[in-house]
Amino acid sequence: MQFKDVIGQSAIKQRLIQSVRENHVSHAQLFLGPAGSGKLPLALAYAQYILCPNRTETDSCGVCPTCQKMQKLAHPDLHFVVPTATTKRIKSNPESDLFMEEWREFVTQNQGYVDTSSWYTFLDVENKQGYMSVRDAASLLRKLNMKSYEGEYKIAIIWMAEKMRVDTANKLLKLLEEPPEKTVFLLIAEDGEELLATIKSRTALVKIPAIDINEVQSALVERLGCPTQQAHDAAVISEGNWLNACHFVKESEDRKFFFTTFQQWMRLCFRAAYPELIDFSANIKTLGREKQKELLDYGLRIVRNSLLFNNNLAEIVMLPDDEKTFNSKFAPFVNPTNLTEIAELLDEAIRHIERNGNAQIIFTDVGFKMVGLLKRK
Ligand SMILES: [Zn+2]
Repeated sequence: MQFKDVIGQSAIKQRLIQSVRENHVSHAQLFLGPAGSGKLPLALAYAQYILCPNRTETDSCGVCPTCQKMQKLAHPDLHFVVPTATTKRIKSNPESDLFMEEWREFVTQNQGYVDTSSWYTFLDVENKQGYMSVRDAASLLRKLNMKSYEGEYKIAIIWMAEKMRVDTANKLLKLLEEPPEKTVFLLIAEDGEELLATIKSRTALVKIPAIDINEVQSALVERLGCPTQQAHDAAVISEGNWLNACHFVKESEDRKFFFTTFQQWMRLCFRAAYPELIDFSANIKTLGREKQKELLDYGLRIVRNSLLFNNNLAEIVMLPDDEKTFNSKFAPFVNPTNLTEIAELLDEAIRHIERNGNAQIIFTDVGFKMVGLLKRK
């Protein structure tokens, strides 16, 4: 990872670059900041900058063998400690070293912007909480006491350091107090309260703020190709948290998809366009079960909202303008003679999809029945 891949945070980047150029890299640093601010990407870019033999005034070179290994998170002088838990594969005594393949894949996939909950989901630890055990500290100690492979710095990144157990933290503390030569510890944490005071007092604090809203907005446009307005809206509600911003964009795109698809479907039903309803269902078949269920669920919400419209409660319907307009036009077709049947039809379709029913048949059936139901006065 290079500094140019890190969103915003120019002041911090400057400070980190300066420390290398002035030969003032402190041996233990604590990157403390809120979720989605880019602490791990900054630490990775910093580590690469420290190790790259061809660094420039602003960044690592990105092409030398060292940079290439760093980009794959596979440099022999780069060590990670991350929270882990037992999984289907590792049934007891979890520790970071056992999950390095997964970790590299996970971080690379997400360009370094990650949080613990998505990491636990990635590992499939079910409802367990991850932690760093004393085995992690012992293994790190062993690795750091060996000579560095390439003769330069060894770097240990401890991601989400607040997940260290007390015995782990105490063992690490000894390492921080008597660090092996040419070793840099980069501790990353979100919750400073949870960290042992002694750990905090042994590390130089690098406070990472939330990302500037304007930087989030431009990154959404550049990286995800969002239209400006959408990028602006997502950036503002993200509060400078890149993970949130991405989540909002995805959510609004999904909703838009369900809205336009459901609208198209209902229009075919109003027109009793049977051949087109069959084509529609054939397309739906390719969506995958989760999306099919969500589409039916979206329909159920429109039906429920219709009740509110019909009872003069339109103001409590929370929908974007275009969806609200559609819903208000749809509402008059939902009445006491068909309400229960429409709701049951959609509900039943969800259950059939869940039981691996044939989506094309299910959606065709719902469409055909809906034609009759919507005509009922
Ligand atoms: Zn390089």
